[in-house]
Amino acid sequence: MDPHTPKILDGKAVAARVLEECRAGAAELAARGITPGLAVVLVGEDPASQVYVASKVRTCGELGYFSRKIVLPAATSQAELLEVVASLNADPAIHGILVQSPPPPHIDEEAVVRAIDPRKDVDGFHPENVAKLALEDPTGFVPCTPAGCMVLLESAGIVTQGAEAVVIGRSMIVGKPMALLLVSKKANATVTIAHSRSRDLPAICRRADILVAAVGRPEMVRADWVKPGAVVIDVGINRIEDSTRKSGYRLTGDVAFDEVAPLCSAITPVPGGVGPMTIAMLMRNTLQAARQA
Ligand code: NAD
Repeated sequence: MDPHTPKILDGKAVAARVLEECRAGAAELAARGITPGLAVVLVGEDPASQVYVASKVRTCGELGYFSRKIVLPAATSQAELLEVVASLNADPAIHGILVQSPPPPHIDEEAVVRAIDPRKDVDGFHPENVAKLALEDPTGFVPCTPAGCMVLLESAGIVTQGAEAVVIGRSMIVGKPMALLLVSKKANATVTIAHSRSRDLPAICRRADILVAAVGRPEMVRADWVKPGAVVIDVGINRIEDSTRKSGYRLTGDVAFDEVAPLCSAITPVPGGVGPMTIAMLMRNTLQAARQA
């Protein structure tokens, strides 16, 4: 492919296809009297979390899923939250449970994740699902954002087999599961995980045929970090002040898109790349949970 005309990986279009499959899957289950059900728990009033939760609930409605939105005051105790999780674990109408991150600081998020029935852990954060990802057991739930990145790569026909992949970031939400997916027997990439203590990050990145940036630092990945012809997946979502916008900010990724894109064979934009895939994969996981229930 001509490196000067990079393929822009359109997450909105691919997500729409995944959602269409979910709608069809839900209709099939409905014929058997089953409605996929997702419970979304929000503790506190974080404005970004409110937007995410509203969009998850709206998408459920569009697909014919059942959803329950549970909004708890910021002062909710750990014990009260665990009681809510326990009642959702026991509710047969609910196949997927997610507690929107980040909870208020007095909540032990790790303990809440462990309290969710792993069969309903559609975020894929429970240790049992982390283990199933490492074991390549398809009954587990894969975290939505890295799963969405893999679907984007597949849908663009990008060959991962034998490719050098570099993942920047080692979080349990994106970086580590992304690396596990790339190194799996399905994808067969050779994977390097880089992080905040990596030595000479630009040199590591220049090795990559597939470069995944999941850091949270605006435009950190520059043109001279990228091998010509590489595929670049930008997971970062960063708010940058911008007085020319009505909102007062704009979103940017971890990659300096304007200078990197001309070098790449394919790249995801921000917004409109990985972002829309995350919610689509949440819907796919919820359908999987309903099928497995
Ligand atoms: P995190 O803060 O948990 O992890 C960031 C990782 O980046 C860490 O592992 C750290 O070691 C690494 N890092 C930090 N500074 C670094 C540096 N200077 N050089 C190299 N590595 C460095 O974040 P996260 O939850 O993994 O999210 C990462 C980014 O992805 C954020 O911008 C977040 O908003 C975004 N995100 C997007 C979606 C989506 O749907 N598109 C979903 C989740 C997260």
